[in-house]
Amino acid sequence: MTAGAMLALRAANRAVHLSALKSDFVSNVSHELRTPVASIRVFAEFLRGGRVTDTDKVREYGEYIETESRRLSRLIENILDFSRIESGNKTYRFAPARVEDVAVSAVRTSEIRLRSAGFTIEFTPPAQELPEILLDEDALGQALHNLIDNAVKYSGESRWVGLAVRRDNGDAVVEVADRGIGIPRAEQVRIFDRFHRVGTSLVHDVKGSGLGLSIVRHVVEAHGGHVTVSSEPGKGTVFAIRLPLAGPPPEHG
Ligand code: ADP
Repeated sequence: MTAGAMLALRAANRAVHLSALKSDFVSNVSHELRTPVASIRVFAEFLRGGRVTDTDKVREYGEYIETESRRLSRLIENILDFSRIESGNKTYRFAPARVEDVAVSAVRTSEIRLRSAGFTIEFTPPAQELPEILLDEDALGQALHNLIDNAVKYSGESRWVGLAVRRDNGDAVVEVADRGIGIPRAEQVRIFDRFHRVGTSLVHDVKGSGLGLSIVRHVVEAHGGHVTVSSEPGKGTVFAIRLPLAGPPPEHG
């Protein structure tokens, strides 16, 4: 075959692959958006119907609507962020803050949803208070939420999520752990690529767009840090975000 024909074939293959990725993505995202919208509608209908008069129940349904709306906002934020990252328009706003405070706030806002799904979320604070560093709190919060959401989504039979903040020499480390389905070793690098989802049936049954971890990586690297994973199939997974206590690189700070 001539070089020209080879090139044309390769371009055609790439186009087919891209178009498959695109249609998978659209269908995955639509599925993911549908679930919180459906819950919000159901709980709003309960409330509007006026038959729920017990104030505790009213509060509980209100909480569901609030947490599901938050989840929806996060999904949309992920999609918008993804598009900003792809076009090179994602910007970060750094201000002095404590990693622990961002972690505590992520735990708090996840708690209601996790508890109502039967999960325990265990938080381990650092042995000693860590210094303030320059952080984009919203972006880091979103990264932690993405990891917590994953810990829940891929939890299998387990109902436990752990979040720990500690110091390791010059780094602040945040770990998000689960005792869920785990990730095969060969997949552990590729999961950070956009759209990449592990191809097992356990994962296929869970809704997802394959964007969450690519955003986590972008956020962490903008802070001059890195994110790692250690995992064993069937045992669980730990994602560790490491941020230098010296702060983000000067071009960002
Ligand atoms: P998704 O929307 O598919 O969850 P992510 O980018 O957040 O996208 O994650 C990419 C893939 O990495 C997931 O589809 C899943 O296969 C795997 N993964 C991520 N977090 C976990 C976890 N805590 N346990 C097991 N697998 C995970």
